[in-house]
Amino acid sequence: MRLSSEMFPFASHDEYGYKLAPFAADTLAEAGRVVAELGHRVTTHPGQFTQLGSPRKQVIDNAIRDLVYHDEMLSLLKLPPQQDRDAVMIMHLGGAFGDKAATLDRFRENYARLPQSVKNRLVLENDDVVWSVHELLPLCQELNIPFVLDFHHHNIVFDSKQIREGTKDIVDLIPAIVETWSKKGITPKMHYSEPCPDAVTARSRRKHSPRVMTLPPCPNTMDLMIEAKDKEQAVFELMRTFKLPGFDLFNNVTPHVRQDENRPWKPKAKKVAKRGRRKDVDGMDLVEAKLEEEEEKPPPMVAEEDVAMGGPERRVYWPPGMEDWLRPPKRIVKSKEDAKGGAAPAQKKRKVAGASTANSDGVASINGKVANEGRVDTRIAIKKAMGKRGTTGSARKRGMGKAAPTPEPSDEESDPLASLGEDEDSADGGSTGGASPSQSAAAPRPTRKRSGRVSQRINYKEEEADEVSV
Ligand SMILES: [Zn+2]
Repeated sequence: MRLSSEMFPFASHDEYGYKLAPFAADTLAEAGRVVAELGHRVTTHPGQFTQLGSPRKQVIDNAIRDLVYHDEMLSLLKLPPQQDRDAVMIMHLGGAFGDKAATLDRFRENYARLPQSVKNRLVLENDDVVWSVHELLPLCQELNIPFVLDFHHHNIVFDSKQIREGTKDIVDLIPAIVETWSKKGITPKMHYSEPCPDAVTARSRRKHSPRVMTLPPCPNTMDLMIEAKDKEQAVFELMRTFKLPGFDLFNNVTPHVRQDENRPWKPKAKKVAKRGRRKDVDGMDLVEAKLEEEEEKPPPMVAEEDVAMGGPERRVYWPPGMEDWLRPPKRIVKSKEDAKGGAAPAQKKRKVAGASTANSDGVASINGKVANEGRVDTRIAIKKAMGKRGTTGSARKRGMGKAAPTPEPSDEESDPLASLGEDEDSADGGSTGGASPSQSAAAPRPTRKRSGRVSQRINYKEEEADEVSV
């Protein structure tokens, strides 16, 4: 796992830089205890300007300060010995400045100036612009620096004079690469990523694909870091593809809806029940009033620990490009407002009829814009139908048939994915107004959070309508 270099802004700055100890020492040690407990390997990757081969003194000074900062951050984690040794700082050699031999000489010189604690952590990686495996490995062997093989970079920058039949040029080098690590008692580490499928030129191939399709040749004793924008999803993808240990422990997320999370709820407004009593000559209305009373019960609460990380059903994986499954796309919120302001009741009714056929498709088939907009309209139409006498039989049935509590139109709903850290536009962060008085009185219970999302509610209703109509 890579720790961000931005954790402590300006810490290595020439003028405004600062030491992390003592002010952050306790916090980092606490984080380190978690790292140790979970057995994670943490590493850092100082930025592209941190290079030791530059002819400019200023660049070298900055680079050394930056390496010292990264070393301090890792050291303050106070990890157990092996994990501490494995907490390396990965660096590229940087530019060639028109003369590779001279650049390598400057690197040798500047490397010699580094404090020993920095040398203990510094490792070099082949890059995708200048330096190939065949150029860097001899340097690493010479200076006793572990070498990180980046397989993707190697497919962009390589020595064409070396044999290139499949992966043979690399596979032959792996024992020598492993040796650069084991000499220092550090667990070897390798990087893997893939270019985007449509990339052809060297330049376009530098861009990493969000997920990877396969795995490189890699000894079992090596750690393999997947460098992919989809992060843990990229790893889940590989686990599924290759049935790696644990692949059977997690499930797919369900589009826009999570059955295993608490939803906002409050008792139905009394006016609905009143209307039922007032019109009790009508048999239908009596039934309606009865159903509304049944809905007074809150749904069972799910303990927070069961909701964490995909809930009891472990729904953590989404297919490539389907991030939208986590939450409705933002444009749906817009279309809700449009519908509220503009559309005539007659139009809405028509959409109810259309939606009842869409129900048989189930949730999974719906991911396009048109379908989603249809669903928003449907929800509003159902609400209208519920509050209005003389609507069509099917709309009434759907509105009445809710088996579980449904939020009021005024209710904001819980955002099941707030915990995934993408909830920037939550309308009224942290409010628990959806809970009934008895719930909010009991302090440690899970709370029903609110946000400005609408479409989860839509799903919820339509699914229930499904259940009823079957
Ligand atoms: Zn890399």
